[in-house]
Amino acid sequence: MNREATPYPCQRCGTCCEKGGPSLHREDRPLVDDGRIPARCLFTLRRGELARDNVRGTLAPLTEEIIKIKGHSGRWTCRFYDQANRRCGIYDHRPLECRVLNCRDTRRIEGVYETTRLTRQDLLSGVRGLWELIEDHEQRCSYEALHALVGEGIHKGRLKLEKKILEILRFDAHVRQLTVEKGGMDNRMLEFLFGRPLAETITMFEVKLVKKDQTYVLAPTSAFP
Ligand code: SF4
Repeated sequence: MNREATPYPCQRCGTCCEKGGPSLHREDRPLVDDGRIPARCLFTLRRGELARDNVRGTLAPLTEEIIKIKGHSGRWTCRFYDQANRRCGIYDHRPLECRVLNCRDTRRIEGVYETTRLTRQDLLSGVRGLWELIEDHEQRCSYEALHALVGEGIHKGRLKLEKKILEILRFDAHVRQLTVEKGGMDNRMLEFLFGRPLAETITMFEVKLVKKDQTYVLAPTSAFP
């Protein structure tokens, strides 16, 4: 869209780019296929993972996976945002959500936000071996399985089956390590291929991994009130 042709032209304040990179849609696939948005610049939020809905402003478990552009320097700011010059580094090829977003009239972004999201299956189901590994990981490390095992949470003394949860976390770490060390994969691809490490995202269940006597156990993220 021509920025100048909108009733509310973009002021280039950078606020939307600083809130995080866009989710990708099927319309964005050519940008990934031809490398204008390299897969190493993406990460996957998996089904069941707690994520912020930028349109509704809510935090909720995802019903379907989302592929997003990564942040940088430990922040959510889109990695293609050039903060010094307040410009998009891929402006002519920016993804759909960035093209339709107008922060003072959100009707167009609301219209596309949940439609035709790009998935790992769209991009990788033809890559034999790798896709089977992703499917296996998805099955063995699903957030649904973790949710069922964690139950009502450690705070209420109902954390169930800690051993099984730790096995899932170990498998998640093992697959990532194997994919790099044996498969020769660029480790910057891991968060796209397998989502964010479970050792980090397990905190969504209000538990965290802690080392105790040379082994890892689960502990509450905050003290019991
Ligand atoms: S792709 Fe460009 S316009 Fe979109 S969030 Fe990133 S920097 Fe901003």
